[in-house]
Amino acid sequence: MQTLTILGATGSIGLSTLNVIARYPERFSLHAVTANNNVDGLFDICAQYQPSYAVMVDEESAEQLQSKLSAAGLGTKVLAGEQALIDMAGAPEVTTVMAAIVGGAGLLPTLKAAETGKRILLANKEALVMSGDLLLRAVKQSGAMLLPVDSEHNAIFQALPETVQKGAELKSAGVEKILLTGSGGPFLTKNLNEFAQITPEMAVAHPNWSMGAKISVDSATMMNKGLEFIEARLLFNASFEQIEVLIHPQSIIHSMVSYSDGSVLAQMGQPDMRTPIAHTLSYPDRIKSGVAPLDFTKVASFTFCQPDFQRFPNLKLALDASRQGQGATTVLNASNEIAVASFLKGQISFLDIAKFNEKALIRYGTTRASTLADIIALDQESRQFVSSLVAANESVSS
Ligand code: NAD
Ligand code: MG
Repeated sequence: MQTLTILGATGSIGLSTLNVIARYPERFSLHAVTANNNVDGLFDICAQYQPSYAVMVDEESAEQLQSKLSAAGLGTKVLAGEQALIDMAGAPEVTTVMAAIVGGAGLLPTLKAAETGKRILLANKEALVMSGDLLLRAVKQSGAMLLPVDSEHNAIFQALPETVQKGAELKSAGVEKILLTGSGGPFLTKNLNEFAQITPEMAVAHPNWSMGAKISVDSATMMNKGLEFIEARLLFNASFEQIEVLIHPQSIIHSMVSYSDGSVLAQMGQPDMRTPIAHTLSYPDRIKSGVAPLDFTKVASFTFCQPDFQRFPNLKLALDASRQGQGATTVLNASNEIAVASFLKGQISFLDIAKFNEKALIRYGTTRASTLADIIALDQESRQFVSSLVAANESVSS
């Protein structure tokens, strides 16, 4: 029996996780679910799944949730604030933590899960990109298990031998290259002259995947693939040269591993996150996820091409940051979160996202950050810097 905390339960990954675990009440029980401020969303989850605890980061939202639960006669205990997220990730009765908060806000609870030896299902790539080795070291020291939910990393993990899954070097298993695939998002073939007019609505409409707003914008700029490149280097202890980004617009192959004898192993499936979620929940076993198998007679074609850095400058920035090191990836993640949030609020243009990210990297990219305090300080400073660029941009355009 696994006892779960789902961080970010009201999100796209959180809801898919609930959908999978509900199929196996004898295998999974729910300790806690968390959300930022989505009262109705968390209430519905409590009504349907009856977890022991529900955490809302926002205090007022927690009060509203408490009164709704009391009125409905539901016994889930409500907690409020960031510390409660951390406590629920580290609670002694919890065996498994789904890390599905979006952004750097997920770092401290995920780190707590790592320090307390949990089985961590990692969707929250920003936590890893932001903290790098620090999170991995905590996993190693406590004997926690870190399993990648991100579909590409989950595909790579599945295509690697058990020795490498358990920490052996890629080379020792004859791995030549990791082929990190990405769809290229909604603007893969859009005329570059029209990029300045891209609206948030256009950017969040992903052709293959249904996801939260932030990762959808990241997919449209291909920053998502850049963050994933950094994530893959960390998870699989890979050099810069050992990973190649490849565009595969159909999102059927979720990534591949190329071996020295010429074999290339791919993991394939529908673009539905319940597959990697089920894999990480049950690994090394397999359980049903609710996802239908591929019908190859209906998969019309597989195509591939190289990414174009002129079209996707954010991807280039992320690759450069990955080469530069930990400080740069912390800065880029922070900067991108502010830039994307500002774009979604209509404060800056689509093209500004890469411009602001580049400015942040130029300003802070060489800063070293190894301790948690360094990382948090650099993250905060980068966020403030980009927020001030956004404010200056608004005063010019108004
Ligand atoms: P989402 O926006 O749908 O959900 C985010 C969740 O995080 C919500 O439950 C929200 O309440 C919570 N949250 C937001 N801000 C918070 C804060 N400041 N403090 C605490 N909780 C907060 O996002 P999503 O699409 O489910 O993505 C979640 C994570 O999984 C992201 O890191 C994303 O990159 C990663 N991921 C998502 C997908 C996907 O298909 N959606 C695929 C791969 C990886
Ligand atoms: Mg992904």
